[in-house]
Amino acid sequence: MAYAPYSGFRVGAALLTVDNSIFTGCNVENSCYSLTICAERNAVFKAVAEGQTRFKALAIASDSKEFLPPCGACRQVLSEFAPRMTIILSNAAGQTRSMSLSKLLPKPANLKHLRKRSAR
Ligand SMILES: [Zn+2]
Repeated sequence: MAYAPYSGFRVGAALLTVDNSIFTGCNVENSCYSLTICAERNAVFKAVAEGQTRFKALAIASDSKEFLPPCGACRQVLSEFAPRMTIILSNAAGQTRSMSLSKLLPKPANLKHLRKRSAR
């Protein structure tokens, strides 16, 4: 269901929650390129909007011959909810690779980085 009239690069994502629900997402491009949203974040935001914030795995598929890992922004958004979740990459030939999000984003920004230093 990707909307990709500018790049022609179609991506789909399927997010598995801890209660085995699946939320799907696709990339949605816009003529203002910076407003484009990735399939991965699209799936996460759908899940969160439905009250789901505990994730086990995310599968990403595209038309590419290459395995398409999530971009940095998506890695950070996924890490907010499940830093050790499994990421499954699939290429156009139907081959898959599996890895931990913590390997893709070993040092995510998180809440503890936002806390103010205590007074001396
Ligand atoms: Zn992304």
